Amino acid sequence: MNVYVPEYYPRFRCIASECRNTCCAGWEIDIDPESLARYQRMTGEFGARVKRSVSLDGTPHFILSERERCPLLNRDNLCDLILHEGEGALCQICRDHPRFRNYFSSRVEMGLGLVCEEAARVILSWPSRLRLIRLEGDGTEELTEDERWLLTFRDEWLRSLPEEGPKTRLMETLIYRHLADALYDGRLDERIAFIRKAFQTMTDGWRDGRADTLAERARRFSDAVEYDDEALEQWISGAGGDL
Ligand code: SF4
Repeated sequence: MNVYVPEYYPRFRCIASECRNTCCAGWEIDIDPESLARYQRMTGEFGARVKRSVSLDGTPHFILSERERCPLLNRDNLCDLILHEGEGALCQICRDHPRFRNYFSSRVEMGLGLVCEEAARVILSWPSRLRLIRLEGDGTEELTEDERWLLTFRDEWLRSLPEEGPKTRLMETLIYRHLADALYDGRLDERIAFIRKAFQTMTDGWRDGRADTLAERARRFSDAVEYDDEALEQWISGAGGDL
């Protein structure tokens, strides 16, 4: 399977304690079965703390504090699980975030979500057009007719954008993330309309031309819409609009 990522993807590194909007707070963090089994095998004082931090009620998840922080996030906004056990101990959601994947029959496209302030900064300050690089696979592909059509349509749309600037990087990111989903649900027109409306919402009134101010608008929009299934569905079906 070929795996593609945007050129800027390898530049992303979580800024951890420097992050003003840590993703380890405010969201429920579900735990995949493999990580759960690892946590249940952990021993000692730290192992006991990890076990106390997990709820098995429904989908296993970390029990957030009253301030909705992950119980393993310490006062310096660093993850105690990483500090004690290394990055390999993270559950799948924490390992993946803020990455997303779009699946085709013989390729996977991965990207960075704008919801992460550092990812948004990397993306919107990138100096050149969206270009994909192959991380895995030999490049041989057998795509369906619909997939080939969609990729050609997407390339033409991307090429029609101006070359420079954070606004173009934003539009490219929306197209790259959301258009491929039309292959699953056939709602191409709705997704095109959503991409245009999302872009308009994030750029309306943005005049200073700075990537960092646009990144903050993008981060807020992404948090409220892209990472909330109900809100995203409303926006795609045309009912969304208020944030
Ligand atoms: S939001 Fe991004 S930079 Fe901040 S803690 Fe999460 S992954 Fe790291």
